[in-house]
Amino acid sequence: MARDYYRILGVEENASQEDIRRAYRKLALKYHPDRNAGDPGAAEKFKEAAQAYEVLGDPEKRRLYETYGEAGLRGAGLRDFSSFDDIFSAFTDIFGGSLFEEFFGPERSGGGRSRGRSLRVGLEVDLEDVAGGTGKTVTLLRQERCEKCGGTGCAPGKQPITCSYCRGYGQVESRQGFFAMRTSCPQCRGSGMVIEDPCSECRGSGLVQRRSDVEIRVPPGVESGTRLRMRGEGEPGPGGERGDLYCDIVVRDHPIFGRRGADLLCELPIAYSLAALGGQAEVPALGGQTLEVNIPRGLQSGEVLRLSHHGLPYPNNRARGDLLVRVFVEVPTRLTLRQEELLREMAKIEGSNVSEKRKSFLKRIRDYVHNMADSPESEGED
Ligand SMILES: [Zn+2]
Ligand SMILES: [Zn+2]
Repeated sequence: MARDYYRILGVEENASQEDIRRAYRKLALKYHPDRNAGDPGAAEKFKEAAQAYEVLGDPEKRRLYETYGEAGLRGAGLRDFSSFDDIFSAFTDIFGGSLFEEFFGPERSGGGRSRGRSLRVGLEVDLEDVAGGTGKTVTLLRQERCEKCGGTGCAPGKQPITCSYCRGYGQVESRQGFFAMRTSCPQCRGSGMVIEDPCSECRGSGLVQRRSDVEIRVPPGVESGTRLRMRGEGEPGPGGERGDLYCDIVVRDHPIFGRRGADLLCELPIAYSLAALGGQAEVPALGGQTLEVNIPRGLQSGEVLRLSHHGLPYPNNRARGDLLVRVFVEVPTRLTLRQEELLREMAKIEGSNVSEKRKSFLKRIRDYVHNMADSPESEGED
């Protein structure tokens, strides 16, 4: 079920960007974990709201979401909000740090903001990719250092100047009763520097949004839900260090093979005569070849044959799982004259060659019918 980002933020689908921004701010303050210590429900709502705003707060992502739903956001470079710090730093970027930091206390100011944001993408792979591992290229929207100003955020020839409010310290002290609190400087947001002439390209942020191709190495044996971490493939931070890119793997359904861990599963229809007499049959293998499988005499419909080491590799391990072939005996629906003739002949002699299993089954049916006829419940019926 797709998440409804509008419902999460409590806004109408035609809400303005400003309405969306306001709604998110309200929720973020309400469900902030520092205010709701030990309440996992609030933490969940806090994350949900951040994810919803990540999409609806950006007009391009919002358009993708409205047109294609969540599927449209694959490769859109959504930020990873698995840690609160990512949410805090995103919030600071959206609303400016000062008020936020004043509201929640000084411990978050400055520290932790030098590293860039982490991003999240989804990646679909096929079972064949899982078997051998693969390299895939994903294209994502990512903030990159602005080339025009080299990331300084200043107009050409200009430099950031020392913040006059905090004199470059990045923090200011305020008094509340007996307590002196150090909070991030509201003018420079803790950096100690301010930009008077911002760069026209990035408007002072030092970052511009760009489409980037990232090569992702998918290791053998991955499963749906595996999260790969590409160090340093997130966004650049003010301190230079880049965040990470998290890649969530989805393995597509295969037309022939199912999967259970490292084992592959498939079904094989065989003729009644082959099941009765035994012999050889061909089964498909992942990748297009075929394997010869030995059908033992008297194989029953539904029995499973195991072909060792023809499954998928285990992650971080050279061993492979097995291929499990579930055999079912096909009953012909159209018979040639000759088949009909032979089967009728067989039917005549089959009565004298009933298996023990069938004999005991038939006896149990007879006993059951007999007992029902004797039971008192059946008497009152009309
Ligand atoms: Zn300052
Ligand atoms: Zn710039």
